[in-house]
Amino acid sequence: MQSYTTKFTNNNIEVIGNKIKIPKLGLVKFAKSREVKSRIINATIRKSSTGKYFVSLLVEEELNPLSKTGSACGIDVGIKDFAVLSNGKNYENPKFFNKFQEKLAKEQRKLFRKEKFSKNWYKQKVKVAKIYERITNTRDDYLHKLSTEIVKSHDIIGMEDLQVVNMVKNKRLSKSISDASWSKFKTMLTYKASWYEKNLVIISKKFPSSQLCSNCGYKNKKVKVLSVRKWTCPKCSTIHSRDLNASKNIKHEAIKITTAGTAGIAQLKTIHKSGVPGNLGSLEPSSSRNQKKNDI
Ligand SMILES: [Zn+2]
Repeated sequence: MQSYTTKFTNNNIEVIGNKIKIPKLGLVKFAKSREVKSRIINATIRKSSTGKYFVSLLVEEELNPLSKTGSACGIDVGIKDFAVLSNGKNYENPKFFNKFQEKLAKEQRKLFRKEKFSKNWYKQKVKVAKIYERITNTRDDYLHKLSTEIVKSHDIIGMEDLQVVNMVKNKRLSKSISDASWSKFKTMLTYKASWYEKNLVIISKKFPSSQLCSNCGYKNKKVKVLSVRKWTCPKCSTIHSRDLNASKNIKHEAIKITTAGTAGIAQLKTIHKSGVPGNLGSLEPSSSRNQKKNDI
């Protein structure tokens, strides 16, 4: 991937209708993904391995906090469903991820069989890159919609710190994980919560979200095993679906931390209300709170 960034000075970068003015390139036609209404800081032009050009504009924009809903939610991310919310909403792992993934694997095998650096090898390489690009774009689109919806609907959002590294070690799970891109989802939730003044609470990995009964608080160590999908609480007899119960516990813990956090410094450490991690790549925002990057 080749790229260069150019700073905005004297209107050297400008969006005019369906064209964009960029230094070195002049006025070029482009596929605009959204309107650019704010002050442009810079433009990054990238050439992908498929030979396409992409321009990302870093813009500065005043963001108004989203109106408060008075609602809290817990998110349990998983293999079977991408995310289960404590309000009962299930977000499936989109089927097209698998479809594309199979296609990608097939074309990658073809690439492997071709003579390296031959004409056909280069052709095949572009083909593979195009599928990969399609997967990334479709996935990002899905994650954007999901994260925006959650941030709009809830004031307190609890999410478990992900043990992706450990889970990827299990080969059978790794495919779904790469599909699902939880870390990307977490990043999006983090900066969107920060932009719109909502509370994202990252719950410690040590918190036994799956084992606790969300109704009475009883800890059932027997359900630690991932294969237990449904269980009945020995104490209060509530029948639990594993992921929904976990998301409810995450919600309770998020509320607890948010409330306690205002009084204790130790607790506040776990609240990721502000601060966007740097160096997130072109699809992510800059580290400044009010700066927003638009991929167009
Ligand atoms: Zn119980």
